[in-house]
Amino acid sequence: MQNYDLLIERISKAAGIELAEVERKVEAKKAKLSGLISKEGAAQIIAAELGISFEDQDLKISELMAGMRKVNVVAKVLNIFPVREFNKNGREGKVANFVIADDTGSTRVVLWDVNHIELIENEVIKAGDVVEIKGGSTRDSEIHLSSFSDLKKSEQVMENVKTGPVVSEGTLEEVKQGQTIKVRGVIVQVFQPRFYSVCPECNKKVIPEGEGFKCAEHGAVTPKDRALFNFVIDDGTETMRVVMFSDQINVLIPEEDLKDAEKATAFRDDLMGSEIYLSGRVNRNQLFNNLEIVATGVEKVDVEALIETLNV
Ligand SMILES: [Zn+2]
Repeated sequence: MQNYDLLIERISKAAGIELAEVERKVEAKKAKLSGLISKEGAAQIIAAELGISFEDQDLKISELMAGMRKVNVVAKVLNIFPVREFNKNGREGKVANFVIADDTGSTRVVLWDVNHIELIENEVIKAGDVVEIKGGSTRDSEIHLSSFSDLKKSEQVMENVKTGPVVSEGTLEEVKQGQTIKVRGVIVQVFQPRFYSVCPECNKKVIPEGEGFKCAEHGAVTPKDRALFNFVIDDGTETMRVVMFSDQINVLIPEEDLKDAEKATAFRDDLMGSEIYLSGRVNRNQLFNNLEIVATGVEKVDVEALIETLNV
């Protein structure tokens, strides 16, 4: 929510509109899109409609959102991971990552440009240094730097950084109940989508009554179907079951398409074996007494597309 608050504050200032008015616009946009997008997503649309760009702005880490371009950040390097070499479909290259933090949170930075990677290899940039990033783009909650981005050591001193990530990034083997996590893994099992009935007014579950259905608040209603979708993710340390509800499913496929056997099968085949970034909340499944993840974000990792868009 902190993310959202900062965002609407920024929109309010940039557009000279009162905070309450910005919030009203966001709510209206969200309602217009039948609640299919998050408040943050709706706020981004409002910002675009008001002609406000986040490009070339210095942003705090907690303000970063997926899909931003030309992002500038000043932050402290917490730790640097070993440089990896990849060879994908005949394209060889190197990729490096490190974690940075400012006073609002931490995030991972991914380097694709050889000149940036050299700064790491030659220890020009080390853990503990403050760095200035210009022209980065965000993918989920990571900042990716291409050859069009700038990375340099800053003279700025940063004492109090929030080392706890905005979202904890880790392995499935370490996750705990109640955590909000982000992992990268492969989908190893995909289940048949299931459907349940909800009230068309309030989206709450309805109970059968007589010939029809009843909502606790709205009485007799003609319910609509909502999809529920499960898969299993493996991040190399552990496998875990993931639950997706309507809002997340709709990001990948219109949920009514899941009722069509052919489309549903194609969707499942496509997901099976895919590498994804998964954000979600760790819950204990009462029935099976095991941990599962309720998805809040699913994005496919497409290395080739990344390389393509970043013009490495
Ligand atoms: Zn209702």
